[in-house]
Amino acid sequence: MCALAFSPCVDFVQSVEQGLQYDTNISENLLPRLSECCSEILSKAHVKFRFYRDLQGLNTIEGEISCKVSFVCQRCGKPFEKTLSAKFCSTPDKEKACSLRIEDKLDIVELNPNGQFELLNYLEDCLMLEIPYVPKHDDDDPKCNDNTNWSFGEIAQDKENPFARLAELKEKFNKEK
Ligand SMILES: [Zn+2]
Repeated sequence: MCALAFSPCVDFVQSVEQGLQYDTNISENLLPRLSECCSEILSKAHVKFRFYRDLQGLNTIEGEISCKVSFVCQRCGKPFEKTLSAKFCSTPDKEKACSLRIEDKLDIVELNPNGQFELLNYLEDCLMLEIPYVPKHDDDDPKCNDNTNWSFGEIAQDKENPFARLAELKEKFNKEK
C-alpha cells in the first residue's frame, strides 16, 4: 500500500480553517474505479488543491488533477495513451449558494451522512468525468488506421494472426525511425 499524503475523508470546514493545501501524487491502487474504466493507469495521478473561504464566505476546494492512462481505441482496436486532466472548484455550502442565488454557477458537492467530505472519492470523480464516452485515437492520428470499415460489433474480435500483426508493427516502427 502506498501512503496517501492527505486524509481520504475530511471535515470540510475544518480543512478550510486549517488552510489545507497539497501538491502530491495518488497511486493507482487508490483509484479503483478509474482503474476499472480504462485499460491501465500509466502514472500516479498528480493533484494540487487547496481549501479556502471565498469572498462570499463559501467554503471552497479548488485545484487540478491529471493522470496518464491507456484505453483501447474503439475505432482500430489498438491501445492508446491519454492524459486525463481536470480543473475543479466546488463547495458543499448549498444553502448559502442558494441564498446568494449563485447555486447554478457553482459545483455543489454532497457530504456523506456523517457530514464528512470524501476527498479522495471526489478527486477520483473529477478524473472519471474526463473519460471520453467513446475512447478513440484523435481523428487525425496516423496510428489509427483500418478505420474504413469498422463497426462496433467487430472491434473486440482480433481476426488477424497476432504474429503477422507484430511483424507489421515492427515494420512500421522501423519505417518511422
Ligand atoms: Zn485508433
